[in-house]
Amino acid sequence: MGGQSKKSVAVIGSGMAGLVSAYLLQNDRQQRFTVEVFEMQDQLSLDSASYTVPPGSDDDDNDGSPPCRIDIPMRALDNGFHNNLKRMYDYLDIKYSSPKFIYPLSSISTDRGNKKSPYYIHSSSNHMVPPLRPEGRGYVTWILQMVFLAVCYFWFTTCCFLVRPKPATKSREDESFRQYLARIRLPRRFIKDYLLPLMSSITTCPHDALLEFPAIDCTEYARRTYRQPHYTVDGGVQNVQTRITNGQTVRLGATVTAVETIGAKVRVTWTDESNKDSRSNDFDHVIMAVTPNVISAIYKPLQDTLGSIPVTSGESVVHRDLSTIPNCDRALRKIAQRSQPSAKQPQLLHICSNDSSTESTHTYSSSILVTNFPITPIDPSKVLHRARLARVLRTPGSRKIVNRIFDADHVGASKKDDEWVWRNGDGNVWLAGAWCWDGMVLLEGCVVSAMRVATSLGVDVPWMAEE
Ligand SMILES: Cc1cc2nc3c(=O)[nH]c(=O)nc-3n(C[C@H](O)[C@H](O)[C@H](O)COP(=O)(O)OP(=O)(O)OC[C@H]3O[C@@H](n4cnc5c(N)ncnc54)[C@H](O)[C@@H]3O)c2cc1C
Repeated sequence: MGGQSKKSVAVIGSGMAGLVSAYLLQNDRQQRFTVEVFEMQDQLSLDSASYTVPPGSDDDDNDGSPPCRIDIPMRALDNGFHNNLKRMYDYLDIKYSSPKFIYPLSSISTDRGNKKSPYYIHSSSNHMVPPLRPEGRGYVTWILQMVFLAVCYFWFTTCCFLVRPKPATKSREDESFRQYLARIRLPRRFIKDYLLPLMSSITTCPHDALLEFPAIDCTEYARRTYRQPHYTVDGGVQNVQTRITNGQTVRLGATVTAVETIGAKVRVTWTDESNKDSRSNDFDHVIMAVTPNVISAIYKPLQDTLGSIPVTSGESVVHRDLSTIPNCDRALRKIAQRSQPSAKQPQLLHICSNDSSTESTHTYSSSILVTNFPITPIDPSKVLHRARLARVLRTPGSRKIVNRIFDADHVGASKKDDEWVWRNGDGNVWLAGAWCWDGMVLLEGCVVSAMRVATSLGVDVPWMAEE
């Protein structure tokens, strides 16, 4: 940047999207930016909900080994879907591995609220063939169930590859997942008992909300992750956080209350949570890496547009209430028999559903469980840690809004006749976040949207794939 002074950038939010955006600008080869990250919590957000198991408190692990970090939420990545996230981890030398998962699927009795024994035991990437036979299920019933599942799964997968969801037209929105499933005539029983529980354990939202997702999100996710392994970061995302925040300027306990473009500058106003003082500063650029409801509250030009994107929230609970998981002792014994003695045991992720929602419980060890968005009570005396998490939902309407904001073809064409459409970068304000791309709201969206901001500001992304 020759003799020119550096451009100042404020990044609001220190989740994955905010931290990756800040990392890219901070590490600009030409050193053209000074970056300041604003975070309302008293710690960085990416790893803030995670939980450290104190040494000796885990029955499996009381041998004096170091404390262990459980990622909350889990932050798994799929080969084929999280392509940019994986490239970034490789570039940063973040180690990840591919644990095997077993998913016992069970239902919650509507009258008594207790969990029944699993009716199906699925394995990640179908690594257990044939699948385990659930307790109390006769051979004939089980074989019939397997045939039914094989046919439905084959049909659903074939459709994901060959039957494209109907795109939006002038008079109609994108086809929803509900409409798509009806069009491909997938049996209701398969949808209710298998597809929705498994998919809503990824999207952590009620079944009705998932059915309102744009169908293209679900078919693309299924296509891209078909027969692919998934990974978790060794040692947890704390390693990612430490790696990408090295040398960053971070203002913790700073809740941003307003962002306004004033001339060529962008003013950020925040409340200092330690003394409740209100302060403001002007920057050349602002990157808002927060959920759409927060942006709608702090940035007037997007108040109405983003206010209509649905955002839900729920809890992840770390606990010891073993009564919350359905009995599958026989399945566990069989898994142990089938596994090589030297191999790592697969991890259990119980998927329990009622008619409208699904909760997932990760059996982290024989005594520590993590339940996401619980729908049945957990004994409060056995709770070790709770974290409230936001989840941005997708609908055909929200997809339209997001695609309009980020449509690269329309950059610089913000004012069309009398219709004013805000585009990413207008007034030097940028958006990043898991929801800021055209796909499922997962970590890949954080990295893609952070890379987009960096590229727009002329910064090279070191892990960018050569097309
Ligand atoms: C239960 C669950 C399981 C998940 N599992 C996976 C998974 O396995 N794989 C995957 O890829 N994704 C998963 N996700 C999704 C993924 O974790 C999130 O989409 C992603 O972390 C969102 O990151 P972000 O940077 O966009 O926003 P956030 O993580 O929401 O970060 C924004 C931060 O900004 C801060 N903030 C908010 N308002 C203000 C303000 N006014 N001023 C200052 N700071 C503010 C908040 O502290 C907030 O944490 C899961 C999500 C949930 C809920």
